[in-house]
Amino acid sequence: EKEENKSFFSSALSKTFDNIKSVVPQKKEKISFEDIEELLIEADMDYSIIEKAMDGLPEMINRKQLRHRLVMLFEHAPDVNMENLPSPFVQLIIGVNGAGKTTTIAKLANLYKKDNKSVILGAGDTFRAAAIEQLSIWADKLEVPIIKTKQGHDPSAVAYDTISSAVARNIDNVIIDTAGRLQTQTNLSNELKKIVKVCSKAKEGAPHQKLMILDGTQGNTAIEQAKAFNEMVGVDGIIVTKLDGTAKGGALFSISNRLELPIFYIGVGETMNDLVEFSPDNFVDSLLD
Ligand code: GDP
Repeated sequence: EKEENKSFFSSALSKTFDNIKSVVPQKKEKISFEDIEELLIEADMDYSIIEKAMDGLPEMINRKQLRHRLVMLFEHAPDVNMENLPSPFVQLIIGVNGAGKTTTIAKLANLYKKDNKSVILGAGDTFRAAAIEQLSIWADKLEVPIIKTKQGHDPSAVAYDTISSAVARNIDNVIIDTAGRLQTQTNLSNELKKIVKVCSKAKEGAPHQKLMILDGTQGNTAIEQAKAFNEMVGVDGIIVTKLDGTAKGGALFSISNRLELPIFYIGVGETMNDLVEFSPDNFVDSLLD
């Protein structure tokens, strides 16, 4: 499975890696400091993080050393024991509009279904009719239940009903969408805080994970937005989307480092199968091999 994941990384991020491979000569055991710097700049890694990675390294660096340094940059690795999850396991999905929340919810639901888990969705972005509609279409496609209301209704009531329904029906996974209109920050902050509070009323300990969806093509903008969300409600981990497009893999180092958060998954396409579990080891291996 590890090998499979690794090759998936390589093909999904082929654009990024092709760029890098043109910089680093294959099979060379030792690589010069300058070549590596060039490699990481080419991959869109922040200079401050390049400095952190390279700190104290000699003029000629071997692959093993470099690999170790790059893996170490993901010090915030996900630490979730998927064996003993509470039931239902409640995930709140947070992020700006257009980042890929709806699509990622479908991808996660698909993943759980493949793992023989039952899933229910909560259409908590009640601000946009299109968001409710879009999530309903995915729910139909995935053949999973969805709890929704009319546009403008209280999103925390949707969250409460979704969790209650999961408890009553013994459903394993609850995935709740939220609004992403960052331009009305105060409102949104209060709304998200209320949703979090209400989740815990529906089920003690919920939400068990607050996952932030970040558009990998947006660079620093996405990181700044993510900080705003993190300040509002606190975030447990990140899913970076759209890494199949123009994004360069180096952004992942910056995202994880600057937000001090683990990356759980990466999105590599628009279908429900295009979600890859993120592993620092496999990612760095694909980058260097
Ligand atoms: P939301 O507003 O945050 O719910 O965003 P959506 O889920 O509607 O996604 C916005 C657009 O990005 C849609 O056209 C999606 O198909 C697209 N999208 C989402 N994730 C990915 C991804 O990993 N790769 C690509 N290429 N497109 C994506």
